[in-house]
Amino acid sequence: MKADKIWMDGKMVDWDEAKVHVCTHALHYGSGIFEGIRAYETKNGTAVFRLKKHIDRLFNSAKIFKMEIPYSKEEFRQAVKDTIKANKLKSGYIRPLVYRGFEQLGINPFKCPVNCTIAVWEWGAYLGEEALAKGIKTKISSYARSYINSTSQKAKICGNYINSIFAKMEAIEAGADEAILLDTSGFVTEGSAENLFWVRDGVIYTTPTATVLEGITRDSIIKIAEDMSYKVQEKYICRDELYISDEVFFVGTAVEVTPIREIDNYQIGEGKRGPITENIQKKFFAIAKGEEEKYLSWLDYI
Ligand code: PMP
Repeated sequence: MKADKIWMDGKMVDWDEAKVHVCTHALHYGSGIFEGIRAYETKNGTAVFRLKKHIDRLFNSAKIFKMEIPYSKEEFRQAVKDTIKANKLKSGYIRPLVYRGFEQLGINPFKCPVNCTIAVWEWGAYLGEEALAKGIKTKISSYARSYINSTSQKAKICGNYINSIFAKMEAIEAGADEAILLDTSGFVTEGSAENLFWVRDGVIYTTPTATVLEGITRDSIIKIAEDMSYKVQEKYICRDELYISDEVFFVGTAVEVTPIREIDNYQIGEGKRGPITENIQKKFFAIAKGEEEKYLSWLDYI
């Protein structure tokens, strides 16, 4: 993973020169916020998927974490597009990061400057092409999703991802591809970096957003599924409801729409990508690649 240029506080910097000081506050305490966005190649050139919504969420994360971003949303959106252009990126991943830099290393972040960067790079299927076609193996994590009042689930705060990293390491070491985390009461929440959907008797379910990140793919999938005349409901469930679901799938910018074929060694449905998952996945990719007139407003062309 490498590209040519990184946008750093308003300047295009060579990839190898995009460095920070070791006393950067965020490096010690995770005091940053970030976004993950994808750009897809379409017949009319590269398009960013739901850029406005991602930059809105970045600014909401900044508000919750009390950081003043020294750019307008419009300037930030333009900077994303400029970085894509500077790297001649056709399709891939976009990572805006806003972090507390160095001034002093006490916990108090307010004295530290707010620095902004945008990196982009080519990135195919997050868990591999086979995962999209055949599904993945998951494990219910022994690590609970951070308690709702420990930090904030609405904000994509760097430090929140330590919880995700513990769950991911445990899943990988147990021979699974990804983790599913429960909340501190035992209700199903989400994956390490993806929201969860499941299907029972033709109805599509997902968890309410109170205890999970308000995923932009989640929002897209709900709209897509409803437009396809599926019934979609939000529901709190325990892990056993997943075991007996007909289909389960993850959604997120990185994983896109990834079927889950196994959870804790229980086979889900037929143990392969289910038919509803496949329909939604196909529609999602067609929309992202600009093949669906009705959803063109979701795309920002470069
Ligand atoms: N949950 C978590 C914890 C995440 O990190 C992500 C990835 N941003 C998601 C869900 C999915 O969100 P989105 O569809 O906006 O990428």
